[in-house]
Amino acid sequence: MKNPDKKGLIFDIQRQCIHDGDGVRTVLFMKGCPLRCAWCANPESQEMKVELAFLPQTCIGDGACVLACRKDAVKAPGVIARNLCIYCGECTKVCYAEALSLIGEWIDPEEACDRLLRDFVFFQRSGGVTISGGEPFFQAKFVKELLDRLHSKAIHTAVETCGYAKREDMLEAKVDQFLFDIKIIDETEHIRWTGCSNKIILDNLDALYQAGRRITLRFPLLPEINDSEENLKATADLVRRYGLKELHVLPFHQLGSNKYQMIQKEYLLKKKAIPTNEYLRKVVQRLVENGIHPVIGG
Ligand code: SF4
Ligand code: SF4
Repeated sequence: MKNPDKKGLIFDIQRQCIHDGDGVRTVLFMKGCPLRCAWCANPESQEMKVELAFLPQTCIGDGACVLACRKDAVKAPGVIARNLCIYCGECTKVCYAEALSLIGEWIDPEEACDRLLRDFVFFQRSGGVTISGGEPFFQAKFVKELLDRLHSKAIHTAVETCGYAKREDMLEAKVDQFLFDIKIIDETEHIRWTGCSNKIILDNLDALYQAGRRITLRFPLLPEINDSEENLKATADLVRRYGLKELHVLPFHQLGSNKYQMIQKEYLLKKKAIPTNEYLRKVVQRLVENGIHPVIGG
């Protein structure tokens, strides 16, 4: 399925969110990301294509999907030859148990803007729209046009970004608040856990700072991955260098675990324990000792 003209590929809109920027937010989730973080909680956002999801717990095994598929991609309930699938969605239409669904929808900026503005009454006083993903700037043309539209209606805009994007796109976009992820400062470790260098990310952060843009730094806290003394210190140094008051610390969780199974992707951290309160208290203390103010959540 090709990208028709100026459309963008989205996979969700969540309403009345309170951890994705100032106030109450409506959050639009875009597909496509250049990084492959081992801990990603939205694996269905990574690929820049429509995907077919299957929930084994929900399937009643009647085989309607097998009969509906004209490409012979469904060999048996839950046995999908993804190389044969053309994402036509016919199997999802006959799946009354809703075990099958398509992830991803092509939409133009006007339609996206209209859908987001349905919540205007909720964020009118305090809040706005946040574009998340995936990496929003992976679809920069669509995202910039959508942000232009929102901005022209005086809607507060935020973007959740991994920072791996074309610098001019980030600087040109009408973004009031960048929610900028800093994962690991050491480049080799960054490549090891995300598949990409962080050089472009750190350069973009610097460029946004030099341009006077509003930045909220966010730190996904991953035990035994990025919680070493060196990384906590280097992260705190970065926060202080840019004169930021806070670092939003997002503790590792397992809420995205089932999604890997749903799209038949391997999840390397499925056995990793979530942080205890005691562990979080210690990390917060270490960050405070490094001269910054950590905020758990965001
Ligand atoms: S989306 Fe279409 S091609 Fe893919 S498995 Fe379902 S019916 Fe077959
Ligand atoms: S149509 Fe849905 S519920 Fe029925 S076998 Fe296929 S996936 Fe399972």
